[in-house]
Amino acid sequence: MTRRRLSGLIGYFDVCDRDQTTPTYDPSPHCQCLVCMRTLCPPMVTVSLMPKGGRRSLFFRAHKVCWESLSDDGQRTYEGSIIDLEVEIEARRLLPEGSEKEDTMSDKAPVEGTSEERLG
Ligand SMILES: [Zn+2]
Repeated sequence: MTRRRLSGLIGYFDVCDRDQTTPTYDPSPHCQCLVCMRTLCPPMVTVSLMPKGGRRSLFFRAHKVCWESLSDDGQRTYEGSIIDLEVEIEARRLLPEGSEKEDTMSDKAPVEGTSEERLG
């Protein structure tokens, strides 16, 4: 599972639109569980995240039992890596539908306005 594909499992609301009740992007409820990567089925949980300084609030779904089987630390790790994917989500948003195979060209492209580096 590539980061870009993973980012497709994460829904979001644009922050600037406070009255928004439907997500800007909602992964199908039939998509995969973020924890076990199997097809989602009830009971599920929806976990919402608000990245610091982020442009949007994120959410993802997982099987209830998968999510609750994680330790607090485990959940935080997931949440951290989801927030980490916001950059992918932004990139994805700028791409036209069906251009997901272009992973190679974005490898070396400098990200303007970001000096942030993450290790690991
Ligand atoms: Zn699961």
